[in-house]
Order: sequence, then structure tokens, then C-alpha cells
Amino acid sequence: MKTQRIYLRIFSIFILCVISISFSNIYAQKKIFTVVIDAGHGAHDSGAVGSFAKEKNINLAVSLELGKMIAENFTDVAVVYTRKKDIFIPLQGRADIANSNNADLFISIHTNSNTSSKPYGAETYTLGLAKTKANTEVARRENSVILLESDYKTKYKGFDPHSVDSYIMFEFMQDKFIDQSIEFASAVQQQFGKNHRYNRGVRQAGFWVLHATAAPAVLIELGFISNRSEEQFLASKAGQKQLATSIYNAFATYKYNFDKRSGIPTAKDPKLIEVKTDTLTASKYNPDSARNKSGIENTKQQTAQKNTSNTNLPIFKVQILASRKKLSTDNAAFGGLKNVDYYEENQWYKYTVGNTADYAEIQEIHTQTTKKHFDAFIIAFINGEKISVIDALKIIRDTKKQR
Ligand SMILES: [Zn+2]
Repeated sequence: MKTQRIYLRIFSIFILCVISISFSNIYAQKKIFTVVIDAGHGAHDSGAVGSFAKEKNINLAVSLELGKMIAENFTDVAVVYTRKKDIFIPLQGRADIANSNNADLFISIHTNSNTSSKPYGAETYTLGLAKTKANTEVARRENSVILLESDYKTKYKGFDPHSVDSYIMFEFMQDKFIDQSIEFASAVQQQFGKNHRYNRGVRQAGFWVLHATAAPAVLIELGFISNRSEEQFLASKAGQKQLATSIYNAFATYKYNFDKRSGIPTAKDPKLIEVKTDTLTASKYNPDSARNKSGIENTKQQTAQKNTSNTNLPIFKVQILASRKKLSTDNAAFGGLKNVDYYEENQWYKYTVGNTADYAEIQEIHTQTTKKHFDAFIIAFINGEKISVIDALKIIRDTKKQR
């Protein structure tokens, strides 16, 4: 009898375990939306530095506050942080975290800086071609953290944050998330504006971290650490709470519209939180002292007419390997790739796949090819002559402008 009772007890514990595991599974499955919150910089990378505050700490405090608010108010949202502590995460590593978690939204949080102490206010970026020098400058500064990595040249495919030419790649990429990114960015700026922050608008520039993330993605510049009173605001608990609440409200609005579009039942209105702006309102400035208006206007670049002797467009290919000996195109070294071609250069046979004037198409072919041929890379030709990819892209851009 006694042993029977023990067995019964063990059996009921087992059943309880099974039930609770399946419950937690159901619960986990309910988290249908993943937001990745990326606190910019960390550890030896302080980001922008003010008179007393550091960007990395402001970014982290606002990120944690934002994540907490989302987790408390949305049971169906999984909140993933790229960092929760003062640690260094490479730019690509941040995008990798978003991609491996199948992010539905990526929010990168940063703090702005300027050589002048005058500019103030918040701006939100989506990936795109920078239309102004000021926007390019912000991207250049945020991208430059890749220089802290010893192997950045191979890891970032030759992207040099300080070279103007490197940014041409952002002109030619296709961003299928651009509409949603702009939708969220606009919501963020709208909320900032509502909550007495000076709204510097939604902008575009070439940020590596946004480029490498396969999801709607924005980069928020909370304010200027280089402006004394704004630095006070950004570093204060009340200021950080106010900023996080504004971003939270933008998230709630975005999620509400996302659910509606997806046919998920929603409440009557988005779950907004009232923003308290009682204490440090560093945002109450006289807009006359702002010079940032000039930074927002679209400067249509004058097209320098390049030599137009090349009537043909450049052609892109993906180079897979080089050999001193001529190989047959069904050689095992090609791993079954179809339509392998070659060209000769300095007594080498160089083997390629793809042949297109469409840069987006060659990028796709390149991505596919690197699954088997790790170090495959894109090359360009014009009229049968090899030229650099950057020169090829410039030719395409200039040709388009002439039309
Ligand atoms: Zn930053």
C-alpha cells in the first residue's frame, strides 16, 4: 500500500510537470512579436561624451526602461536586448542578435553629438541615402565603432566608415522594410514632438547596423550630449523615463496598427502611457536659436557629368575562385554551381557566376554563392574591362541622373 501511494505521488508530480511545461509552451507561443532593443555602444566604446555624461550609459538606461514598459504591457511581445550591461557588442553582432531572434522590429538607441554646442532635439533615422552632410556625419560617427574591431576589413566586406565612396552601397540596396521602418520612425518623432521634445524629423542615412538587420529598423538619436542643458536632461532619471515613454508610445501605436493589418484582435485604442514632463524640460528652448533647419533641407546634388564615352552599363559578376590551370566548368571545385564563366587576368583563370547590370541582383547571387564559397566577392566590368565596384556604381548613378 505504502509503495503504491509513493508511486501515485510520483505519477501526479510527473503529470503536473507535463501540464506546466505545455502551459509554458503555449505561453511562449503567444509571444508572436519580437522587438529587439539595441543600446548603442558599451564598455570601452563610450560613444559620444559630454561634459560629464557618456552616451553608452544614457542609451542603456533608456533601452532598459523602454524594454521594461513593453514587457509589462504586452504579453504577446518578446523583448530582446542586444546588451543589458556595460559590455562591448560589435555592430554586426547587434544585427546578428536581431536576425537570429527573427526580429519584427529593431530599435537602436543612440545619443547625438555635434562640434557646436547649439543643436538640440531628437531625430530618428531609417536606412537610406543621406541627403545632407549633417546626416552623413551622424552615420559616419555611429559606423566608426567598427574600427574598434581588429578584423573589421574582412568582417565588414571592405566597408570603410570614413570613406565617402563606401556609402555608395546604400544607394543601390533594396530595403523591403523601408515602409514599416518609416512608419515606426514617424511614430517616434510624433511622440517626441507631443512630449515637448524638439522634433528634428525622420531622416535617412547609411547605418551599417540598420543595413545588416533583416527587419524594420530605426536608429533614434535621443538628443545632443554636446548641448549643456540637453546633456542634463539626457542624463537625468526623469529625462530618461520621459524619452523611454515616448518611444514606448510609438511602439504601442505601431504594434496596434501591425495587429490590425495582421487580423489580430485589438483593443479599441493603442495602450499609451501618459508622459510626465514635470521636471527637467530641457526641450523648452527658443527655436530661434536653432540652426538645425538648414540641416534638414534637401540639397539636390549637382551632377558632375562624367565622361560619357561608355555607352554601355557596367556588368557585375561574382568571383568564386582563381586558378593557374584552366578548369572545366563542371569541376568539383565549383560545388555544382551552374553557368560558371571565367576571365583571364595576369595569367590566372578567374571563375565567376552571375552576369547582370543590376546591382541588387548580383548582391542576391553573391549571398547565395557565399553559402558554398565563403570568400566569393562581387566584381565589375565595363566594355570587357575590369573596374572597381565603386566606380561601376558611380557610373550607374551618373547615367541615371543624366536621364
Ligand atoms: Zn551612438
